[in-house]
Amino acid sequence: PYVVTEQCIKCKYTDCVEVCPVDCFYEGDNMLVIHPDECIDCGVCEPECPAEAIIPDTETDAEKWLELNREYSLQW
Ligand code: SF4
Repeated sequence: PYVVTEQCIKCKYTDCVEVCPVDCFYEGDNMLVIHPDECIDCGVCEPECPAEAIIPDTETDAEKWLELNREYSLQW
């Protein structure tokens, strides 16, 4: 899946939410997150993010963000 990273913190844009075909964005404490089991890996949100906060979980450093995205999205 794709994951949301720290550049999203306090970002007020929701362009990513609008383009996601499966509505898998959720609100975390101070950032948006992607539910890793619902994300279909389409990649549409990545270029839409003005803060460049969205990365594929295959990238270096993505692992801790994957955990955080999972934790926050499971609160819902
Ligand atoms: Fe939604 Fe696609 Fe982004 Fe996953 S990669 S969060 S399915 S827009």
